[in-house]
Amino acid sequence: MSGYNHLFIPGPTNIPEQVRQAMNLPMEDMRSPQYPELTLPLFADVKKVFKNRNGRVFIYPSSGTGAWEAAMTNVLSPGDRVLMSRFGQFSHLWVDMAERLGFEVDCLDMEWGTGVPVELYAERLAADKAHEIKAVFVTHNETATGVTSDVAAVRAALDACGHPALLFVDGVSSIGSIDFRQDEWGVDCAVSGSQKGFMLPAGLGFLSVSEKALEAAKTARHMRCYFSFDDMIKTNDTGYFPYTPPTQLLRGLRASLDLMFAEGLENIFARHHHLANGVRAAVSAWGLKLCATEPKWHSDTVSAIRLPEGVDGAEVIRHAYRTYNTSLGSGLSKVAGKVFRIGHLGSLNEVMVLGALGAAELTLLDCGVKIEPGSGVGSAIKQFRSAATASTAKA
Ligand code: PLP
Repeated sequence: MSGYNHLFIPGPTNIPEQVRQAMNLPMEDMRSPQYPELTLPLFADVKKVFKNRNGRVFIYPSSGTGAWEAAMTNVLSPGDRVLMSRFGQFSHLWVDMAERLGFEVDCLDMEWGTGVPVELYAERLAADKAHEIKAVFVTHNETATGVTSDVAAVRAALDACGHPALLFVDGVSSIGSIDFRQDEWGVDCAVSGSQKGFMLPAGLGFLSVSEKALEAAKTARHMRCYFSFDDMIKTNDTGYFPYTPPTQLLRGLRASLDLMFAEGLENIFARHHHLANGVRAAVSAWGLKLCATEPKWHSDTVSAIRLPEGVDGAEVIRHAYRTYNTSLGSGLSKVAGKVFRIGHLGSLNEVMVLGALGAAELTLLDCGVKIEPGSGVGSAIKQFRSAATASTAKA
């Protein structure tokens, strides 16, 4: 295959050259007296991305799944009742983990393409006068279906009935790309991973916790070892880890945070929204539908696009890869074969999005989908141009 691979899966995402270069260094001594000069500012700066002022952040050598487990095992006790919802493969896996770890899971099964059912959460919480529900879970961005849920509304539902449950948020494919405000939304455990908005390889699991979660961890009785907050706090406070940290990834993290702060978080969110609008304009011009059933669920980091009956999504993905050296995201689980996904997050600009749309358009045509050649790319260009014209007019 000629040319380079065009990576448009929703994580791992493209790694900026500065970040790749920052990871190209010899092994270093993670117990050296200088090491805290790297790590202590990292802990402080990752907290800024989560907008967590008073709590703390744990950086685990794991993927996001490890940070899920760290959150639950440190803060909860076996048999605790938790309120969760399932509407895609990642919210499903979180429910599955909670069940396997021995929690009493109240799971609300929703249509795939919708998100967290805030009204139903509000009803369950208001009815729980004895406060048996210890934690409420939100998958902020369901990567399998391209659905973003309203975390602030879940916080409001908790507050409306004065419910003390902890709020857990999976922000693996949102934090660092879509607006997220841990303090303001009263999120107690926020989980993310390095390979999406943070523009790094997989291998770092981020868990940002509130003071309330730290307090809960003091009496929580779930078994934990590798992910223990206590072990981490003892060593992290002086800039070290209870085990060998992935030193190159931490150097990469320094570089990616520098890039994120140079651009500005709010500008990053605006860029993701702008690029996602281009993708959505293309999907609409193709006459196809998103998996997200309503605009309020639209995700700015990933679009899952429904294929017409009779078109095999697995073949679409294979064809894009083999013929155009382009990686698109496949449909997972319930929507396997029925959708394909375009990841539009991380280090990305308009031209890259047009590349993804061009590859998707060629592939769809090759696979027999009746779309007008150029319609998607053309609509995305018009969308980008109209946004540019509007902002020039404002200035
Ligand atoms: N949660 C969401 C929303 C995800 O998109 C993913 C991975 O894509 C995960 C959790 C699992 O994260 P990881 O693969 O880093 O363990």
